[in-house]
Amino acid sequence: MELKLVLDVQKIRKDFPILNRKVNGKPLIYFDNAATSQTPQQVIDVIVDYYSNYNANIHRGVHALSQEATDAYEQARLKTQAHFNAKHAHEIIFTSGTTHGINLVANGFSSLLKEGDEVLVSALEHHSNIVPWQMLCERTGATLKVIPMNDNGELVLSGFDVLLNENTKLVFVNHISNALGTINPIEYIIEKAHEYGAAVLVDGAQSCPHLKPDVQALDVDFYVCSAHKVCGPTGIGMLYGKQDWLNKLPPYQGGGEMIAEVTFEKTTYADLPHKFEAGTPNVCGGIAFGAAIDYMNAIGFANIAQYEQELLEYATNQLQQIEGVKIYGTAKNKTSVISFNVSDIHPYDIGTILDKMGIAVRTGHHCAQPIMDFYQIPGTIRTSFMFYNTKEEIDVFIASLKKAIMMLS
Ligand SMILES: *Cc1c(COP(=O)(O)O)cnc(C)c1O
Repeated sequence: MELKLVLDVQKIRKDFPILNRKVNGKPLIYFDNAATSQTPQQVIDVIVDYYSNYNANIHRGVHALSQEATDAYEQARLKTQAHFNAKHAHEIIFTSGTTHGINLVANGFSSLLKEGDEVLVSALEHHSNIVPWQMLCERTGATLKVIPMNDNGELVLSGFDVLLNENTKLVFVNHISNALGTINPIEYIIEKAHEYGAAVLVDGAQSCPHLKPDVQALDVDFYVCSAHKVCGPTGIGMLYGKQDWLNKLPPYQGGGEMIAEVTFEKTTYADLPHKFEAGTPNVCGGIAFGAAIDYMNAIGFANIAQYEQELLEYATNQLQQIEGVKIYGTAKNKTSVISFNVSDIHPYDIGTILDKMGIAVRTGHHCAQPIMDFYQIPGTIRTSFMFYNTKEEIDVFIASLKKAIMMLS
């Protein structure tokens, strides 16, 4: 099968210094992008420039460095706003990542939920989109219900329809499953949930590397993601929230930057977005996140999606020809994630041998134990591709996998 390349991948790969390194004497093949993506030189340069030239605390200094850092940080917020098409810049809250954004919202809803209220979460979630809601339900007496999935790894929408009622206050679903790659029909879920007045939070940690969400077109209430999965650094991410919702939620953390006025009798909170950005933020991270968004947009999300889809089909076809391989997650709409097992060989054993051959894959439950329980397996081997991966890498991976299977059977 010939790939019709829509991207100049060899040129793109030159942007990623890490792709030149060797692991165990073999050229690195990095197929663990769903856990974290690699960082291009353009983003690394922005980080070096920040610490070399204008590192300062923001929003409070009158001096030049502080103003330059503040400008760059707020510029990054505007970039993020434009990228996600938020109506207002102050609807973009910089967080430390997806997990932080989810916890911020879950914590805020503590004061808005009561016993008898219902919270829906999908069966396809990452632990970070399950545990905070369980904690929220424990605090408030609300009930957590689960939108079911089927054998293909798709959500069962009729099951969702049945669960929705007047008591439903919140719905949480990921845009794309990190364990299986399923693209969930969030448009439908958001529209239906809104018919019952429920708010929807979408975990976009896996979608943002592969597509460009439009939060206004989606009419989503909250959308969260992490920069480190979109070619940015760790420790930074964003929470988009509709202005009305963000105004309704109480602050998550108290501290500097989030207040308007403080006396020992009473403190009034700052306006959005500062109300939710207590303390010194990850200034450099925010600026680098903006640079990562620029980098990905320069390549173009339509090109990225098309190219990654070709990689997905190519690898899926090859894998299916290997005896004993079973792929989990065969949704019609999926991104470049393949979760699989080989006969009854433990995924960890295959992962270890692949590592010896320089190939980075993920093995285990992928922070999604309920999905593994559904399939009654302890875990899978997961390969996840980004636009800088190649068909040649997949060929090496397939040959190495065959060797590993021979060694283990
Ligand atoms: C990675 C991931 C998370 C957690 O992101 P952090 O950056 O670790 O906070 C949550 N949900 C999904 C679907 C993910 O892929």
